[in-house]
Formats: sequence, structure tokens, C-alpha cells
Amino acid sequence: MPARPARPPAPDSGARDACGVVGIYTPDEPVAKLCYYGLYALQHRGQESAGIAVSDGHHILVTKEMGLVSQAFKASRLAGLDGHLGIGHVRYSTTGSSTWHNAQPSFKVTGQGGGIALGHNGNLVNTVELSRDVPGGDNCTSDSELLAAMLAAHPSRSLEDALVATSERIRGAFSLVVMDERTVYGVRDRHGVRPLVIGRLPHGGSVIASETAALDILGAELLREVRPGELVAIDEHGLRSRQWAEPSPRFCLFEYVYVARPDHRTQETTMYAARRRMGALLAKEAPVPADLVIPVPDSGTAAASGYSEASGIPHAEGLVKNRYVGRTFIEPSQSLRELGIRLKLNPLRDVLEGQRLVVVDDSIVRGNTSRQLVAMLRESGAAEVHLRITAPPVRNPCFYGIDMATRAELIGSDRTIEEIREFVGADSLAFLSLDALVDSTRRPKGTLCRACFDGEYPIPVPGEHAVAGKDVLVQLRSS
Ligand code: SF4
Repeated sequence: MPARPARPPAPDSGARDACGVVGIYTPDEPVAKLCYYGLYALQHRGQESAGIAVSDGHHILVTKEMGLVSQAFKASRLAGLDGHLGIGHVRYSTTGSSTWHNAQPSFKVTGQGGGIALGHNGNLVNTVELSRDVPGGDNCTSDSELLAAMLAAHPSRSLEDALVATSERIRGAFSLVVMDERTVYGVRDRHGVRPLVIGRLPHGGSVIASETAALDILGAELLREVRPGELVAIDEHGLRSRQWAEPSPRFCLFEYVYVARPDHRTQETTMYAARRRMGALLAKEAPVPADLVIPVPDSGTAAASGYSEASGIPHAEGLVKNRYVGRTFIEPSQSLRELGIRLKLNPLRDVLEGQRLVVVDDSIVRGNTSRQLVAMLRESGAAEVHLRITAPPVRNPCFYGIDMATRAELIGSDRTIEEIREFVGADSLAFLSLDALVDSTRRPKGTLCRACFDGEYPIPVPGEHAVAGKDVLVQLRSS
């Protein structure tokens, strides 16, 4: 049995999303509305809180609230956010730090009396050391607040110079949107662990966002990804770039498996096409005689169609997803938690009855969800359940912005595949190999972070005490 979790599990015990950011400069449209729609497209990256900061060139206004984008911003509040440049943020965090105070954008006043607003997707690994060097750093309750405090306290008179100097000091994964009264900046760590793209708005101006879906919803044209180690600035003079560090790309492999929307585009592929390839490769690596391939919606959907096409086994929807179940700031009661997977998925008995099923899912993190799923499919009449996972076992925790679990909670950390199969109760269980997963991304293996699968952390983390102390991490883990 897996070790008892240090905190109560959320209703879905799989990997959590990261955060989503958007930054916009537009000469002649109310920017708050554009940020709002951009955040809508990024809602899957964080459902606990949402915030927008705007500037009219003179003053920064910030609004943030707990809950989904649709709950956080009332029309009257958006109408009061007057400005032509702005940033937005949707947040996922650990339960303990899910507070209004930690919602982003974080805002600080500089020594010169100006304002700085900041939204962060990622996770820093040297916050303890950094917090000692910043006035008031000990009181910061998220790494994003600490970053904003570092920028505000920086002696440079230019936010751009302060950003470059600060980026050189911080360690970890960060895709940032930052603004003062006149300029919006996007910054990516030198490994480019978390995504960040730039686009051109149809009526002038530019947008920086976590995923291309935010550009699509605004009718913006994708220009390119922000390069690892690059700072981009957008203001009245247009778009400019500064390469502040030598790039050493290590893009998150798990974004392909689960986190990013299927319509997110990289230079090489869409997530949808990559997931279909994962399914096809899985069919080659782990074939099984069966009657039906069904996905675990939504992240298994594209891969299941790929598995079906490659194997010749028909494909059907066997599970209906309740699309309105997301994380909120209200921790569900014990009785609701016990409903487990039934809150989220409902089986179609007439599709499943008597069938030998191939069930395609994206990952197994703690194993509890998969166990409930297999039991539910059997109760619905499935003759056999063969679980196929489009990634290798998750054996190590993530320190770069995806909240999976502690090492002790990860079922893959110390069990064989046969032991995991036994725990989840499937007739057979197979994981996609790491090489096949990498192939499906169309990127060279050396340019990807694969640490949760193979333990090779591209950015050193401060050892196992950080694993054990994930719930405390000086309360600085934010996104
Ligand atoms: S450890 Fe895993 S989830 Fe975290 S950044 Fe690396 S590949 Fe992504």
C-alpha cells in the first residue's frame, strides 16, 4: 500500500496543473477584457485563483480573487480596470497555501514609488537563500511574492535591468509576466522548463502567454516561443528582446503528456498530434487482444484514438466526464471525497458490458484514481480491463511547478510494474517507454526535462529534505 499522504488528497489524486500567465500590450483596446479571455483559455492550468493587473501608463490596478476565471471577475470590476497594458494569472497551488494573499499577480511598490506586478508559472528551488537577502523576504508567503519583492528592492532604476539581474540569481523554473506602468515583460528561465509564447494581436500590440490557445482566443498570430534565457519587452515602441542567459533547453516532458491543452503548438508539433503518436507507439510496445479501446477523458482521448488506429481495435467513449468538477478553494468534505472518481467520471454501461477493454490514460501518480477507475469499469460489466499509460511510471517528484506528490506518495517510486498492476487491479498494465515518449514529442531527448520519470534533474534541487518538506517549503511554493 502507498504511504499515507501528508495532507488529505484532493478529489482527483493525479498530477495537478501548473499555473497560467498572460501579458498584453494593446494600443487601443481595453486590456482587462483581453486578459480575461486569455485567462479563460488557460483555465486548465490553474483553477484556484485568478488575477489581472492593468496600467493606463500612470497607475497599476490589481484585482484577484479565489475561484475560476468566470467567478473571479465581475463585469463591473473588469469595466473599472482601465488600461492598455496588463498581465493575468491563473493559479494552482498546494492546499495549504491556497489563499487570497497568495493569488497573483503579486504587487509591490519600488523604492522610487513605482509599481511592479508579477505573475509566475514555475517553481523556484532556492527561495530560502533568496528570502534572507531581501528586506521583508521572511514575510513573503509565495515565491512569486518574493520575486516581486526582490524586483522592487533592486537598486537598478530600470525594471528590465532588475529583471535580468534577478533572473541570474534565482534558480528553478520560471516563466514570468511582469509589468510596471509602461511596459510588459516576459521572462523564461535558461532551461525553458515551462512554456511561454509570443503573438501579435490583430489590431496592433502583442501578447505573451503560457500556451498558444490564449493567442488563438484573442485572434493573435503566433510569432514564436520565448527562448530559454530570453527576456522580451512589449511597449509603445513594439517588441524587443534580450538574451540574458545562454539557453540550455529542458522543456517539461509532462506538458506533452498531460498539462498543456491538446491544441497547444510548439515549433515541432501540437500536443494533440504528440498524444496520438504516444497512443500509436503504445499499441506497438504493449499490444493486447481486446474488443474496445476507451480513453480516460480528456487527456487520454487523443492517445486512445492513436492506439485504436495502430492496433485496429475499435474505439469508443466508455466514460462520460463531468466537465464542471474542478478544484476550488473549498476543500471537499470527507463524504464528497469518498465519492472519488465518480464525481468526475461516469461509465456507459451499455458500451462497456461484456467487453475486453484497453483503457488509455496519461499517467499513474498515486494509484488511487486508477484503482477506483478499474473497479468502476468492472462494476459496469467490463470483461477485462487492460490499462495502457502514455508515459513511463512517475518515479520522482517535480520541483519545477507541477504538483504531483511527494516521493513517498508516488506509487511508482518504489514498486515494480507488476506491483502497481496488482494495486490498481487491472488484468494487465503497461507504460509507454521513455524513448517512445520522447520520440512522440519530435524533440531531441537532451532538450527535455524528464526528471519525474528518470530522476535526472536539470536544475539541482536542495536534496531530499525538500521532498520531505514539500508541504512546508517555507510556504514559498506557489505555482
Ligand atoms: S520533473 Fe517532470 S513534471 Fe517536472 S518539469 Fe520535469 S518533466 Fe515536467
